[in-house]
Parts: sequence; structure tokens; C-alpha cells
Amino acid sequence: MKNVIMIKYGEIYLKGNNRSFFENLLLKNIKYALYGINTTAKRFRTRYIIENYDSKDEDIIVEKLLTVFGIYSISRAIEIDSSKDEIIDFCKNIQIDGTFKVDTNRADKTFEMSSMELNSLIGGVILDNNPNAKVDVHKPNQTIYIDIRENHKTYIYYKNILGAGGMPVGSSADGIALLSGGIDSPVACFKIAKRGMRLTGLHFASYPYTSEQAKQKVVELAKIIKPYTHMRTLYVVSFTQIQEQIHKNCKDEYMITLMRRFMMRIAERLAGKIGAKAIVTGEDLGQVASQTVESITSSNFVTEVLPVFRPLIAMDKNEIVDIAKQIGTFETSILPFEDCCTVFLPKYPLIKPNLKKVQEEEDKLDVEGLIENAMNSIEEIKI
Ligand code: ATP
Ligand code: MG
Repeated sequence: MKNVIMIKYGEIYLKGNNRSFFENLLLKNIKYALYGINTTAKRFRTRYIIENYDSKDEDIIVEKLLTVFGIYSISRAIEIDSSKDEIIDFCKNIQIDGTFKVDTNRADKTFEMSSMELNSLIGGVILDNNPNAKVDVHKPNQTIYIDIRENHKTYIYYKNILGAGGMPVGSSADGIALLSGGIDSPVACFKIAKRGMRLTGLHFASYPYTSEQAKQKVVELAKIIKPYTHMRTLYVVSFTQIQEQIHKNCKDEYMITLMRRFMMRIAERLAGKIGAKAIVTGEDLGQVASQTVESITSSNFVTEVLPVFRPLIAMDKNEIVDIAKQIGTFETSILPFEDCCTVFLPKYPLIKPNLKKVQEEEDKLDVEGLIENAMNSIEEIKI
């Protein structure tokens, strides 16, 4: 008999012929999450077993597993051999005060009893040993799960801790995430990583208008979300010259609109270099002037091939804040450092930019030269 942690997956069940690709990727990601902890992880058919760890590490293992996309549930379980006597022996010592039920899952069809038979046998054993226990199959206080697996091992546990859900990171193509220091973009990263996308970060800084601390804040955010996004690199591009040139040559109210078009173009260039296949932003419909349909049309227009994913587009700010708190980015995001978007901020930004007029305004700039200079300024930070 030993303590293990048992993991079940979720949506991977829906996969057909290529299911083993997802199953193996999930095992790889589980090992990645547990890197540095003395333990082993293995897969047996549709279950993953974490074993051979020091009991003092159990909580931290569960905590780390909660960041792994693709996991449906995590259970602290007892592993015993699949025999009726062993199961009875173990269940004799279960202490229950109140209502309970036994829920058997028999994946090993060679096991000597059916699920129903074992439920009633073990229910009887528990009743015999616990005078205050009572069976309630509809709304029990406690459920005893008995999972009889094909490896002739049985796992007994009391609770399914809900996992992060989603698909294993790396199961989709890689993406490049526009990461500001705000609340939204780290949440956008979390959301899209949940669909299996591994991310590389891209941040625009405007020295000396923005500070070293503002950059460090983004690095910190990238580190906080790394367990979810597997982000290994954050690219920082200098946006100063672009902003200065827009400020100098274009009408004030076009500042944000034009900036966003530069951001998209640079993101697409960088994506081409690193093999990313999508751009991800934290835009949210209607949240600010740059996030109206017309503004988004204007910035969307400049990307040539890549799709731009906006996982937060239909979310309310309070829903986004709730996730930011849950993933631990909120406190860092609200630190008050300038972002490049707040530099040269016009008093009245365009809310509904007209695409033709935007293009006319942009024609006053050496777009290609500015992009080239920005690309040459790239700093690569390991996360
Ligand atoms: P956030 O909270 O993510 O900063 P926001 O509400 O401040 O978002 P905007 O400033 O309009 O909104 O930015 C929209 C999106 O554009 C951001 O979510 C992010 O993806 C991208 N973005 C904005 N500023 C930067 C920046 N300095 N570097 C990289 N991406 C940025
Ligand atoms: Mg912002």
C-alpha cells in the first residue's frame, strides 16, 4: 500500500486516432511542472500516477499540477493490489461519521466482482465498522471512490480536486503574446495557453519615457504565468523612435491607432523569425478607445497572414480581474509604472478611426525604416 497522486484528463478523451499524441504531451508537461521535485510520474492508459515522493512534498506537487492544462482532476489516493481482500482490508479502517456512498469504477474487466457488487460489499464493510455511518447514494457527505485499473492496481480516494482543464500546452502551434504591464494581457496569455498554445512574449518599451522598473514588472508577470504558458523568452522592443516620430509628424488623436498598427506589424515580423503562428493580445471589446470595433479593424488590417487571437474580447473587466487574482498576476499588474501606451497619450484619442484617414496619416512616416530600427533594437530576456 502506498500514497500516490492520481490524475485524470479531460478533453483529450474526445480525441480519436491521435489521442496518444495528447496523452504523451500531457505526461511531458506533468514532468515539466514537477521538475526539481524528487518524484516520478507515469501514465497508465487514461490515468497518470505520481509516486515515490516525500509526503512533505505532496501539497506542493498538487499545487504545481493545478497549473497543468489538460488535467481534469487530481486525487490523493492509496494504491493497493486489485484483490477483493486487499480492498476490504483497507476499507475496514475507513472512519466515517455521517452519510456516504461507495463509487466503484472497474476498468479492469478481469476483476472478480462487478462495480455494483463491490459497492454494496464495501458499503456493508464500512457500515459494520462505523455505527454512525449511513448510506446516501444521492447526496452523501463523503464518497469513497474505488478505481480498479488495468495494471491490476486499485486506487482508493475521497476527493477529486478540479484541475486546470483545457488542452496540454504545445498541442497547438506556438503564439506570440503582446505583453504589457497591465491586468489584461497576462490573463489573455493564460486563456490561450489553456487551449494548448505555448507562448513567447513581446513587450514594447519606450525608454526613457518608460522605466527599467516598468520592464522588470513585465518580466515578473511573464515569470508568474510561465507554469501555464511555458514562456521561455520575452522579447523587448524599443518603441521610442516610433512614438516620437508619430508625435512629431501625425495628428495627436492618431497616436494610439498608429502605435497599435506598428505593434501588430512588429509582432508579425518577430513571429516569422521564431516560428510563431498567431498573435495574442489582451484586447477586450469596448474597454478603451483602442478597443472599439473600428480601432481593432485598423490594427487588424496590417497583419498579412497571421491570425490575431483576443481571448478576452467578450469578457467583463471583473471576470478578467478574478482570473488575474486566481493566477497571481493582479498584485504585480497594478504596480504603478508607466506603459508606453501612456506616453504621448492624446487628450482625445480616436474612438472610431476611419481606415483611409489612418492610412493617410501613416503615410507621413517611414513605416518600413521605423520597423527595421525597432527590430534591430530587440532585447531577448530568458524567463
Ligand atoms: P493591458 O491591461 O493588457 O495592458 P489595456 O487594457 O491596458 O491592456 P491597451 O493598452 O489598449 O489595453 O492594450 C491592449 C493590448 O495591447 C494589451 O492587452 C497588450 O496585448 C497589447 N499591448 C499594449 N501595450 C503593450 C506594450 N507596451 N507591449 C506589448 N503589448 C502591449
Ligand atoms: Mg495597457
